[in-house]
Amino acid sequence: MSAVRPVAAAELPPLPPELAAVPGRIHSLETAGTVDGPGVRFVVFTTGCPLRCKYCHNPDAQHLKDGEATTVGAVMAELAPFARFYRDHGGLTVTGGEPLVQPAFTRALFEAARLWGIPTALDTSGFLGARADADLLAATDLVLLDVKSWDPATYQAVTGVALQPTLDFARRLADRGTPVWLRFVLVPGLTDAADNVQGLAAFARALPNVARIEVLPFHKMSEAKWRALGRPYALFDTPAPTAEQVERVRAAFGPLAA
Ligand code: SF4
Repeated sequence: MSAVRPVAAAELPPLPPELAAVPGRIHSLETAGTVDGPGVRFVVFTTGCPLRCKYCHNPDAQHLKDGEATTVGAVMAELAPFARFYRDHGGLTVTGGEPLVQPAFTRALFEAARLWGIPTALDTSGFLGARADADLLAATDLVLLDVKSWDPATYQAVTGVALQPTLDFARRLADRGTPVWLRFVLVPGLTDAADNVQGLAAFARALPNVARIEVLPFHKMSEAKWRALGRPYALFDTPAPTAEQVERVRAAFGPLAA
């Protein structure tokens, strides 16, 4: 980022005060994200999530109250010096936690980004998809839809909640033509059953708006966070998938898989 010429604030359209004042709670900001959407992303990690994924990478972002209070204006002020770079080479991604715990904040961030010509991406499990109103979706260029499993019982076991709201949201996005990158975390012994993978692959194939499928190998990099929180890490003995397992699952998802 250091080689990028900063943009003087005066070159950007000012944010309307009512947009800049929208409050939210965040875990952190990342200025050079490369795994949460196309190109280089300014990533906003919100707090609050109704799921309890066994492999959660951000267990310290699951509770809304654990976040730092901020505003859309404060977040966009961090992005502003490199607004042209994100506009041309990536965009803004809101993730978490679960961004749809704070739909007004997420919508206002996207509307602010749009004012500056910056592409937007929403990283969500879809469980709270009903909270994404038409205005939020109108300001969303891409949804990174994390479908944790196809089999409802496996989904419940992985996340602690029901699968159906995610499928409903996926179909709603398909109906309105919002581009989706579907994401699936491959966990040996938990999500890797052939029926589970093939069912999700068939569902994805039937959605014309799915532009890419990301098979994400399970890893244990968050184990230290769980330990620091004093919470048991259920997948302590679970190995990462082998390269062959990952390739087999990518092959099952077909040509859109990465
Ligand atoms: S949806 Fe994401 S933030 Fe929420 S529990 Fe699962 S992995 Fe963690």
